[in-house]
Amino acid sequence: MLLYNTLSRSKEEFKPIVHGKAGVYSCGPTVYWFAHIGNMRAFLFADLLCRTLRFNGYDVDQVMNITDVGHLVDDGDEGEDKMIVAMKREGKTAYDIAEFYAHAFFKDLEKLNITPASKYPRATEHIAEQIEMIEQLEKNGFTYRTSDGIYFDTSKLSDYGRLSGQRADEKQAGSRVDMGEKKNGTDFALWKFSPSSVKREMEWESTWGVGFPGWHIECSAMSKKYLGVPFDIHTGGIDHIAVHHENEIAQTEGAEGKLEANYWMHNEFITVDGGKMSKSLGNVYTIDQLIEKGFDPLAFRYLCLQAHYRSKLNFTWESLEGAQNALNRLRNTVRDWEVPPLRLGNEAREASLYEQKFADAMNDDLNSPEALAVVWELVDSSESTAHKSEVLLALDRVLGLHLETCVAVQTEIPSDVQKFVEERARARAEKNYAESDRLRTEIEKLGFIVEDKPDGQKVREM
Ligand code: AMP
Ligand code: ZN
Repeated sequence: MLLYNTLSRSKEEFKPIVHGKAGVYSCGPTVYWFAHIGNMRAFLFADLLCRTLRFNGYDVDQVMNITDVGHLVDDGDEGEDKMIVAMKREGKTAYDIAEFYAHAFFKDLEKLNITPASKYPRATEHIAEQIEMIEQLEKNGFTYRTSDGIYFDTSKLSDYGRLSGQRADEKQAGSRVDMGEKKNGTDFALWKFSPSSVKREMEWESTWGVGFPGWHIECSAMSKKYLGVPFDIHTGGIDHIAVHHENEIAQTEGAEGKLEANYWMHNEFITVDGGKMSKSLGNVYTIDQLIEKGFDPLAFRYLCLQAHYRSKLNFTWESLEGAQNALNRLRNTVRDWEVPPLRLGNEAREASLYEQKFADAMNDDLNSPEALAVVWELVDSSESTAHKSEVLLALDRVLGLHLETCVAVQTEIPSDVQKFVEERARARAEKNYAESDRLRTEIEKLGFIVEDKPDGQKVREM
């Protein structure tokens, strides 16, 4: 399998640390608001990676964190904690906010048929591990204290900036952050002291005083706990490269003297109507909003598969409609197929040419648009439909389009539609074509399409 590693800026052959196993850490959601379609692209990408690893026979252990403390509004070390903003907005406790939005997030994962990770550790449940790592960094001489917290001194690491390819001094020159008491512009908070005037709901005792962890330390501490150092693959959106992941690498290297993960993979962003999604433009869509507009959430999954994860994906309603139509066409086609042949025990089956081509596409840095093209080649091929059913279901283990609910499964026709279909059969037998057309329109009004085939009428959902 070739995977694009942001660290080396090249596609590399995937070599696992332990033969046959793959440890994957995916930066998860900050549970202060509903996840939007951009966030969901990041999780769909991580799912596609894990599914492809499994398709190749790897035993995958995926860990995804839930950020419920420490992620500040401006992604730097200033501004309010996003969870505190949500508490004020909704008048609830931080715990209730986290529960509510984590629940909504898990529902979204289900709607998109994203395979659950093995674990979803929460930052607030791993404060001791984070403190321990900061203590190790302190022992190793990477920290300093300011009036508002304990900071990581990025000048102490000779290769700080290796992920984004920017040296620390270039980064400093490019960053417009207010340095405050920081020694270097790229230094970041490991532990922030609670303001003495206000009691925060989320604060903990530590050797440095009462406070809360910085955002980046949770991922270094929890990935170490659940996957070890180093582990195989780390995923996230491209916005994480320059700060969050750079800082994760610095922390783990400072504390453990090792690289945190061998492969760093990042998905490109979703834009909406060619621009950034933003609340002020009212174009921050959630999966539920797509459903409210009548779309199947898996049409969004199909839309994401149509673009390579490292390409920008411009979301428009028309593009979603196109994906929905393609998915409907696929589902309707496979309904008429024969069931796959029954195989006894471990009876081997010859890998089909299409399966091989599909694997080649996915194993070339998850080239899902090409893999989808192979699916349509298979659909249009002259192979027997029983064979096609078998192969398509194997490929759907990677695509995750729930095709097992459609292959060789006839649509249930509601009785009112059935009544019109029978009346239409009589009208056609009597050569009353005007009546037959009227009944076709009635059937369409109920959301079904009727086609006249040599062996009679075929009805399917629109
Ligand atoms: P957050 O909840 O802000 O920590 O983000 C969760 C994930 O979504 C991260 O991996 C981000 O990099 C990713 N992400 C945020 N916005 C977008 C977007 N517009 N398109 C794709 N991924 C995004
Ligand atoms: Zn992270």
